[in-house]
Amino acid sequence: MSDPENHFIGTLEGEEARLLRGLVRRVTVNVDQIVVDQGAPVREVYFPIDAQFANLVRYPDGSAIETAVIGNEGLTGLAPFMGDRACAWEIVCRAGGEAYVASAAALRTLAADRPRLMVRLLSLTDLYQSQAAIAAACNALHSAPERIARWILTASDLSPNETLFFRQEELARLIGARRSTVSEAASQLKRRKVIAYGRGVIRITDRAGLEASACACYGMLKPRLNAVHGLEMAGNVGSQT
Ligand SMILES: [Zn+2]
Repeated sequence: MSDPENHFIGTLEGEEARLLRGLVRRVTVNVDQIVVDQGAPVREVYFPIDAQFANLVRYPDGSAIETAVIGNEGLTGLAPFMGDRACAWEIVCRAGGEAYVASAAALRTLAADRPRLMVRLLSLTDLYQSQAAIAAACNALHSAPERIARWILTASDLSPNETLFFRQEELARLIGARRSTVSEAASQLKRRKVIAYGRGVIRITDRAGLEASACACYGMLKPRLNAVHGLEMAGNVGSQT
């Protein structure tokens, strides 16, 4: 297997690739490292290689919920960075690893001059916006095991690794449920033998089974991710599978 790479940077071509690579440096990020505070401007953007980030909305009473996962398909903080606005959520590393980091201002300037780069950034913005919209609907409508199955599948699609690092408190945050609910839902998926779960590590053991355990949200989002990954025609976007 070749070394993991950030898909966005790895698939840029020509002058855009050369110019973008000139803006980034490779760094190691640690779990729980906050790269953008809620309400702060986005000064740097991260392109995950094998790290993953989460968008987290925090409330004054201490509660928090994750609205999107960012993996090696793209980059963090995209919509606020493009508008040069304060970020309405916190961006935190959910799985440690390697990433490229670039100055948001430098990337914004480059994208303004490079329409092909801008089109790619807008396509990712659409993916993350869709993820957040579907997460909101999903949390209101679907059961805890369905929601957990969906998050595990999505995080797996955005990761080059076979196993996923998830802590119970994060799973609870992902789906806006109590830890006891999450614990029961995760055990249910384990009993169905669709995931193996222990010591904070999840491995998908039966992908088709896990997809069958997830709600329709996963199938609704998947074509958009495939379009970003260039696996399918974007014409399928929005359809359920
Ligand atoms: Zn759902």
